Amino acid sequence: MRQIKKKILVIAAHPDDEILGCGGTMARHTDNGDKVFTLFLSDGATSRIDKNNHIVDNISRVNAGISASKILCVNPPKFLNMPDNRMDTLPFLDIVKKVESIINEINPEVIYTHHFGDLNIDHQITHKAVMTAARPQPNCSVREIYSFEVLSSTEWSTPSPELSFVPNFFVNISTTLDQKLLALKAYSDEMRDFPHSRSVESVVFLARYRGATMGMNAAEAFKVERILN
Ligand SMILES: [Zn+2]
Repeated sequence: MRQIKKKILVIAAHPDDEILGCGGTMARHTDNGDKVFTLFLSDGATSRIDKNNHIVDNISRVNAGISASKILCVNPPKFLNMPDNRMDTLPFLDIVKKVESIINEINPEVIYTHHFGDLNIDHQITHKAVMTAARPQPNCSVREIYSFEVLSSTEWSTPSPELSFVPNFFVNISTTLDQKLLALKAYSDEMRDFPHSRSVESVVFLARYRGATMGMNAAEAFKVERILN
């Protein structure tokens, strides 16, 4: 990672996506002295029942997001509180405008967000809203956009060449995998037992697999959406 200090914005649909997708990379940015911000579009709770059959309320998911940000020593997250798994009921332009106003407020150089082919509808809409809000107009601060993979959504999508996640950018998280796993503990209500895809074991397997394919101990994989230089 470069030594120039940057502003990084992670834009995720739900609290937990940011850690699953790029928690180790967020920690790397913090180690580098970069300023890391997180934006959640949905509360991630309104339609959820946890593993004990309790309704997951908005407050607990928001608090988990705040706890995870503290563990990673990043800025407190911002929440847009759109309805969980129902972002397709909102006018797309309204979503874009809200994302755009946060981008204009923070002026990040780098954005991490969802892969467009994810199974989850909120992830798909988030990707599209980010690409629209960060379109490369003159004076747009955003120079780099990367898509991340989220276990139990990216790999669960309909198999097709168009929707497949084909990473071409890998961040070595050998030194920050422990922090990612620690931050994930804030979301223990969202995690499931192995062999569920969204289990701690599976998160470690993916990090090791992505690392090993590139000769590293652990990595997070991304697809480059845009780099301007
Ligand atoms: Zn999600």
